[in-house]
This record gives sequence, structure tokens and C-alpha cells, in this order.
Amino acid sequence: MTHAQNTAPTTRPSRKPASAKERMDTGSDSQELKEIPPEAVTIAIFCALSYEAAAVRYTLDEEFECHFQSIGPKRYPYSFGRLRDHIVVIARPHRMGTVKAGQCAATVCQQFPNIQFALMVGVGSGIPDPSRRDLRLGDVAVSIPGGNHPGVVEYDFGKYEHDRFILGGNLDKPPGILISADGIMQEDEIMDKRRLEKVLRGITKKPGFARPDVDDILYDKNFHHINKGSDCSGCEVADRRKIVSRAPRPHANPVVHRGLILSGNSVIENPEDRDRLRRGYEDAICYELGAAGIMDEIPCLVVRGISDYADTHKQDTWHHYAAAVAAAYCKVLLRKVDGPDVRGISNIYDSQLLAQLLSFNTATGDRGSEAKLLPNLARQLGFDMPQLLPESRGLSRP
Ligand SMILES: [Zn+2]
Repeated sequence: MTHAQNTAPTTRPSRKPASAKERMDTGSDSQELKEIPPEAVTIAIFCALSYEAAAVRYTLDEEFECHFQSIGPKRYPYSFGRLRDHIVVIARPHRMGTVKAGQCAATVCQQFPNIQFALMVGVGSGIPDPSRRDLRLGDVAVSIPGGNHPGVVEYDFGKYEHDRFILGGNLDKPPGILISADGIMQEDEIMDKRRLEKVLRGITKKPGFARPDVDDILYDKNFHHINKGSDCSGCEVADRRKIVSRAPRPHANPVVHRGLILSGNSVIENPEDRDRLRRGYEDAICYELGAAGIMDEIPCLVVRGISDYADTHKQDTWHHYAAAVAAAYCKVLLRKVDGPDVRGISNIYDSQLLAQLLSFNTATGDRGSEAKLLPNLARQLGFDMPQLLPESRGLSRP
């Protein structure tokens, strides 16, 4: 059997205009969006909340639409787009927590068969530990493995061993390709190349995503929030308030913290739980909800913008900005990851080819050798050339 016979894709790009119902389903101005088949998607980005997904969508180089005739209904809110060479789906579980996130991840893997790995991108609660690291609101936490942990550990799952509670769950490490890409980002940070800040500036211009114009105060763990249901204005002026003394940061740029992210199902919002549940993990930098469920289904890197300190002073003020920081990190990271390795992987090969074809600049027409090469490749793979490369797109024919 030839490669072409073996790899003819089951779903092809369609030129049929989207119906009114379909446009409502996608919730977008889909008449202007290119359509991709589910097989073209190679990376899943999971966001628990709508503003987290919006922050990621603001970083897309291009948005797509995708229809599901062959694989059933869209069970979750999906968005599609391109981040450099990668075609991504942004998916949102129906509810927070590891079980719902795991169900969403399993469905996404079924509906998009060529997904290679995932990122969970959104906000999380920072674990302040000033003697070890200078972690502030609006920083970003990334689940990079360390000496005694794989990057993410479940904080509400484990066992007692020799009178000590051992955090459990054998979660896999993040994909090596993402750890390597993060390594390049670390080099950029040493060299003071501010790529993350540049992307972040683009998001923070959008309504609601600007950096909050408020002080970043870390209260002592013995000083609890005063006015329940209200903001911290009462805490800030209270005579008995206790604040952890920290040197002012000379800049307002986000700092990337790499280490252990603790994942579970319950919101941590008092300093006693915060310090108890980490159980001695010195590398622990952040609590979050849901990622452990995704990592059971698909290799995943967790990226969390720090929106609070997991104490009683937890507020919503930093949520959007923290989501923007996480989305900016995600974009810079994926820029450092090459597109799918197409050699010898038939479905991925198709996806990569489609990605290239779809990203063609329709306005320029002839792109020289590339314009001749791609149609030839498409023909070898069994694509229907007139359908895939219509004259109306202005592509030159071999
Ligand atoms: Zn407070």
C-alpha cells in the first residue's frame, strides 16, 4: 500500500459557506474564518474559565473554525487558531476540578486524534515563601520537574508512610519538548530578552486585562481578612494589620517561577491549609484546580498566572491580568517549539501539510518553489486538488 493510499484524510477543508446555525454554534464571525479539519489540530490548550480562554485567544496569530460532521457534537466550548506553526484547540471543561478536567481532556483527545500534547493555562494561587523566592501577584508559575517531583502533584491525594503523609498520584512529567523550550526561555531571561513582556503588552491593551493599579500586599499568615465579602480596603488601614516586609520590585514585569504546582479539587484560601498541604515540598510555588485530571489523559505543562496568595485576602482583582501573563508565556513558549515532526507519522503529516496550505497567503499567489511543492505533496497524499486549492484562493497550480 502506498503512502498516499494509506493516509488519505477522512476530513477535508470545505469551501461551503457556514450556515447561520453553524455560525451561532461557533459564536464567531465564521464567514471570515478559514475552516480546518479536526485532524489539523496538534496542541490542546485547556482553560478552566472564559477570561482565561479569552486571554489565550488574544495571542493567536489567526483564528479558525472547525466543523464536526464526522466525530459528533462539540461537547465543550472550543476555539481554534494558529500559534506560529501550531494549530491549537482551546477547550474549557464545564466545571473546575480534576474529574471534569479529565473528562474534557479525554473528549478532546477523541475528537482531535492528532493532538500531541497539552498546556493548561490560566490563574493559580501563589505560595509565598520570601526566604526562598520573590513571588508576586502577576508572576507566572510553570510546572517544571525538580529533584523530587514531576512538576505537578495532587495535594488531596496520597498515602501515609512511616508516620508521614506522602503526596501521591503518579503523574507524568510534562513533554520534554516543552521543558526544552522553557530552557531556551530561561536563557532569554538571562540575556534580558523581554519576549514575554512584548506579548503581554498586546493582551493588556484589551479591555479588562490591564495590570491592576493597586498595591501587591502580602499579609502575615496570622492576620486574616477583616470584612468578609468585601475587598481589602479595611485590611489595608487596620491598626492591627501585619504585612510581610518585602523589598519593592524595581520593575512591574512578570517573573517566571519554575517548580512544583500542587493540583486538586478544593480552593485553598487560608494560610494554614496553604502551608500544611504542601507538606514540606520546598519547590511548591502554586495551587491550582484541575490540571492533574488532564495529565492523566495527555502529556501536559501547567502554566498559572499568580492571582492571589491562597490566603483569606483572596480577591478577583488580579484575575484577568494573571490570565494574560499565563497566555503570554504560553505563546512565547510555543514559538520555541517546532511544528509537528511529519516524517513517518501519516496523520501528523497530513496535518502539517494542511497547516501550511491553510496559512498560505492568498493575496500573494505564486510563492515560487513552495507553491509548486505543496500541491505536489497534497496530490501524493490523495487530496482532491481542485477542492483543496481553489483558483479563488489565488494559488498557482503546478
Ligand atoms: Zn483582606
